[in-house]
Amino acid sequence: MPDRLYFDYNATAPLRESARSAMVDALDLPLNASSVHQEGRRARALVEEARRTVARCLNAQPAAVTFTSGASEANALALSPVLRLGARDVTIDRLLVSAAAHASLLAGGQFAPGQVEVLAVDENGLINQQALAQRLETASRCGERCLVTMMLANNETGVIEPVDQIVQLVHQADGVAGAQHFVHVDAVQAVGRMPVDLDRLGADSLALSGHKLGGPLGVGAYVAKSEDLRPLPLISGGGQEKKLRAGTENTPAIAGFSAAISEACEEFGENLSIFPDRDFLEENFRSIFRTIIIYGENVARIGNTTCFALPGTRAETLMMSLDLDGISVSSGSACSSGKVGASHVLKSMGVPDDLALAAIRISLGRRIAPGGCERFVTALAKAVRRTNPELVSAAF
Ligand code: PLP
Repeated sequence: MPDRLYFDYNATAPLRESARSAMVDALDLPLNASSVHQEGRRARALVEEARRTVARCLNAQPAAVTFTSGASEANALALSPVLRLGARDVTIDRLLVSAAAHASLLAGGQFAPGQVEVLAVDENGLINQQALAQRLETASRCGERCLVTMMLANNETGVIEPVDQIVQLVHQADGVAGAQHFVHVDAVQAVGRMPVDLDRLGADSLALSGHKLGGPLGVGAYVAKSEDLRPLPLISGGGQEKKLRAGTENTPAIAGFSAAISEACEEFGENLSIFPDRDFLEENFRSIFRTIIIYGENVARIGNTTCFALPGTRAETLMMSLDLDGISVSSGSACSSGKVGASHVLKSMGVPDDLALAAIRISLGRRIAPGGCERFVTALAKAVRRTNPELVSAAF
């Protein structure tokens, strides 16, 4: 059996060597960053160095980086109905969330369910900007404040939301009756796969996850545009993370996350080399399967992701076949695998259930072995021929 091919980086990326060794070094010491002795000071230095590294990768301010247990927590923290702006508390009336957003955004964070409104998306999963502009204008006229939230790069399709345009809309609406709206962005799948510059995006905050970058599981960050912007904490008690996130800092995980994000951002230029792999796969799919549908193919996508459906097939059956052939892919998002149901992202894009249940997601990373994509194409054609021979071109 040849080596397994792992094509599921958007679910979780393999741990980078740099992250592993940073963690192992940190695990060997008793590192409580709140302690004042030498070990404690060493832990504090590691955490603060990591904060600077995360900030540098995003063109953000180190003091505005808060470490969390992952992006689910960072999103829940960011979605706060009260934001402290310097010395003043601002109440947010509505959370406007993209229908194609990750479940951790759709859950609404700290907002009451009645305050959450879902924003319709188009066939590519992009927010309908005209409808959003109207909604914000109405809110401004009524004196309502909104927090708008979405993913920068969709975890299932790779489609990139033009967040800078959304931010512009939000600021235009700000002008009406002096209301003020906010934007929180889930940048989990974007970091290391496209340039992410918080200042240039203009958003108020970002959420990140360590394990999508080749760092450890169970660590992430909430990054605000300024340390003066503070949501309500989810966990209070100890004064860690400037009282935004109580609990002894997970120093080894933070050290691993820092090593991973630093390497991922440095290599971003080099990472472009995975783009031809995705394009190679899609070109082959199109020539072998004439009826294939590739979601988001005509809009900007991160270069490592493709999501496609072969009408008449079942993703589960194909995934099992590929798994037996030593290839790991995903259907829909990993967070929802285990329960069979059409992906909410594809549904929000108007994809009918039968096609959504046929959709397969491939997400590539740097460790794809040479010849891996060719092996994948052959394995997929073999799997489809077994169940739906009519879908495979006779020439293949
Ligand atoms: N946001 C996106 C876009 C994701 O893909 C995921 C993970 O699947 C998360 C948030 C949650 O991240 P974490 O596993 O760090 O909680």
